[in-house]
This record gives sequence, structure tokens and C-alpha cells, in this order.
Amino acid sequence: MTDTMFSESEERAALREAVAKLAGSYGRAYVAEKMNSGDKLTELWQDMGKHGFLGVNIPEEYGGGGGGMGDLSAVLEESAAAGAPLLMMVVSPAIVGSIIARCGTEEQKQRWLPSIADGSLISAFAITEPDAGSNSHQITTTATKDANGGWVLNGRKVFISGVDEADTILVVSRTADAKTGKLKPALFMMPTDVDGLEYQHIPMDFQAPEKQFSLFIDDVHLPADALVGDEDGGLWQLFAGLNPERIMGAAFSNGMARYALDRAVEYAKTRQVWKDAIGTHQGIAHPLAKVKIELEQSRLLMQKAAALYDAGDDMGAGEFANMAKYAGGEIACNALDVAVQTHGGNGLATEYGLGNMLVAARLGRIAPVSREMILNFVAMHSLGLPKSY
Ligand SMILES: Cc1cc2nc3c(=O)[nH]c(=O)nc-3n(C[C@H](O)[C@H](O)[C@H](O)COP(=O)(O)OP(=O)(O)OC[C@H]3O[C@@H](n4cnc5c(N)ncnc54)[C@H](O)[C@@H]3O)c2cc1C
Repeated sequence: MTDTMFSESEERAALREAVAKLAGSYGRAYVAEKMNSGDKLTELWQDMGKHGFLGVNIPEEYGGGGGGMGDLSAVLEESAAAGAPLLMMVVSPAIVGSIIARCGTEEQKQRWLPSIADGSLISAFAITEPDAGSNSHQITTTATKDANGGWVLNGRKVFISGVDEADTILVVSRTADAKTGKLKPALFMMPTDVDGLEYQHIPMDFQAPEKQFSLFIDDVHLPADALVGDEDGGLWQLFAGLNPERIMGAAFSNGMARYALDRAVEYAKTRQVWKDAIGTHQGIAHPLAKVKIELEQSRLLMQKAAALYDAGDDMGAGEFANMAKYAGGEIACNALDVAVQTHGGNGLATEYGLGNMLVAARLGRIAPVSREMILNFVAMHSLGLPKSY
């Protein structure tokens, strides 16, 4: 009997093909034009939403496709491989959509999920703080109950993506009753135009349509139903979104690596400075072959992590989502480095866009969880070594 466990379903393959076609019709030229003009990828985002691609993971009864992270990560990987990665997919449908679908009330699901699924609403996600960084247990953004049963939020966040294009931000805070010690996250949907919220753009050393921001949250009043999940619900509520975030981080990186490899192979086949094309030389061919092998390893890890998450195995998904994110970050950096080298001087020419992407690929080693923190996690949880931090 043939074992088909390592092939995706025909439905998934068709989804990939449809996304590749749509995103490919926009392509890298469209993204480059938007980056230069300072605009967002609005047309592509809306088109992807109209075709149901942004909400493939959202339950059908709330306007989504009824699939899972396997489907959503395939969508992001294909759009990134076409040169048009949609960073806000990592945040809006994957983190926020997953958390609301799993932890929200019936009213919250009806209110938020259909517009997240069709892309008409974008939600950012804010956990990182200036003085906490990788150590989320250290966050100090505080939610205090007011006299009317609502909440007052105070705190600072950094590196929050897409605030300028988002309608809401899912903010991770802690309640005044659980101000110190191990994090008991309290999650709030906060409108981006609410009184008391200010945000400031953080200039970054790579060009991308999505920008990062510092948030200043000063006495922001939110109604009782802004709280998503239990105020004391424990870390699993957060990880209902963070495991999808890691799987999507891997998808973003794997897609970017595919894009870089395709460009490099194309160039290696056509560029000729001696008798034959440069791809004839093993000095060029072997690094490309190595990227191909490591990319396929990385994609398998991502698919396994998504399959575990979709099967409801949160523990297994946690371990493999971390490993998949690690592998994705590594292969995106390696693939871009090899692509730049293959292109010689053109590798750093603005026209080819690879130098900018090489810096952007570094993001996969830093966010949403750094390479070092993943190694800490694997050493401790997968290998049983002593906790190092
Ligand atoms: C482009 C971009 C987009 C982002 N978007 C978002 C977003 O939308 N929402 C959001 O909430 N956050 C976002 N982030 C933040 C991101 O998740 C953090 O940058 C990341 O978690 C690392 O935190 P830090 O930058 O504070 O680094 P730090 O925690 O200060 O770490 C600095 C270095 O020290 C290492 N280190 C720290 N502790 C240890 C340890 N115990 N052992 C070994 N090494 C250690 C880290 O690995 C890292 O290399 C984004 C970041 C970037 C760059």
C-alpha cells in the first residue's frame, strides 16, 4: 500500500495553485511599487479576501473556509513565494482569528470573525514591551476593572506591526490582581482610534509595506466585552494564537526562501560570463541544491506543526511550531544569502530587490520568537536539559 502521509490533499494543492495564480498576477513588481510609494498592499489583500483565502482557517459558520492552519500557512507560503508576502496574515486571521474562534464568546465570534475572514477588518496584535522583550512573563501593561464593569488599560508596546492599517489591536495585558509573577494573560480587542491610544512609527532598516509602531496606552477605557477569553484563563488562551503565529512565521520565511531560490536558479541558468552558464559551476550549483534540500525540510516541519495544531494537539503543536519557525528563519536567511551571491553585483542592485529582502529575511530569526529562545525551548522541553533562563 502506498503511504501518502507526506503528500498534501488534492484540495490543499488546488488551494496553493489558486493562491499562486492570484498572488502571481500581482507579483514582486506590484509590491516594489507599493513600497516605493509608501502604500499598502490593499488591492491584493482585498482580492485575497474576496476569494476566501484570508479566512480559510476560520470556521464556516462565521464566514470562513472551515479549514485550519495547514490551509492558512499554505496560502501565506504561496503568496510569499510569488514575491508578495502578506505579513498581516500572520497577525489578523492567524493569531487574532484563532484566539477569538477558540476563546471568544458567541457574540464576539459573530462580531469579529466574518470581517477578519473576508479581510474587511484587520487586527494587529500587541504583546512585545520595551522592558520585557522575549520575556513575556515580564510584561506590565495592566488592565484594571472600572466601576461600570469595563476596563482601563495602561502600558507601552513596541514593534507592533500594521497599526496604521489595522482597525483593532488584540492587546496582551495582565489584570491588576495578577500584576506580578507568571503571566496570566488578559486579552483585549482595542480599537486603533480609541481615546488614550497613541502610536509612533519605528523606522526599520528594510523596506516593507507593513510598518512597526510603538504604542502608548494611557487610561484607555474599554467595555466589558472587549475582554477575549477569561481574565484569568491561563497561558493556553495566548498559545491558541502564538502557535499559529509561529507556523505562519515559518510559512512567511519558507515562501520568501522559495522566491529567492527561484530567482537565483533562473539567473544561474541564464547568466554566462565564461563558456557556460554560471549554474554549471558547482560553486554556484551546490549552494542552490543545499538550499533546496533545507527548504523542503523546513516545509515538512511547518506542515507537521500545522497538522498537529489542526488535530487539537496543542503540546505537540507547540514543540513543532517552534522548530518550524526556527527552520524557516534559517532557510530564508540562507536562501537570500545564496541568491545575492548567485547574482554577483546585481545581488545588491536595487533593481533586483534581493539586498532589501536579505535584511527582511533576518526578521525570521528574531520574531515572533527569537532563534535563541527556540533553542532554549527545545533544549529544555524536547531534550530534558535544565532550564537556562
Ligand atoms: C519587523 C518586526 C515586527 C514585529 N511585529 C510584532 C508584532 O506585530 N507584535 C508584537 O507583539 N511584537 C512584534 N515584534 C517584536 C518581536 O516579537 C520581538 O522583537 C522579539 O520577540 C524579540 O524581543 P526583543 O526585540 O525585545 O529582543 P530581546 O528580548 O531584547 O532579545 C535580544 C537578544 O537576546 C537574546 N536573548 C534574550 N533572552 C535570552 C535567553 N534567555 N537566552 C538566550 N538568548 C536570549 C534574544 O534571542 C535576542 O537575540 C516584531 C519585531 C520585528 C523586528
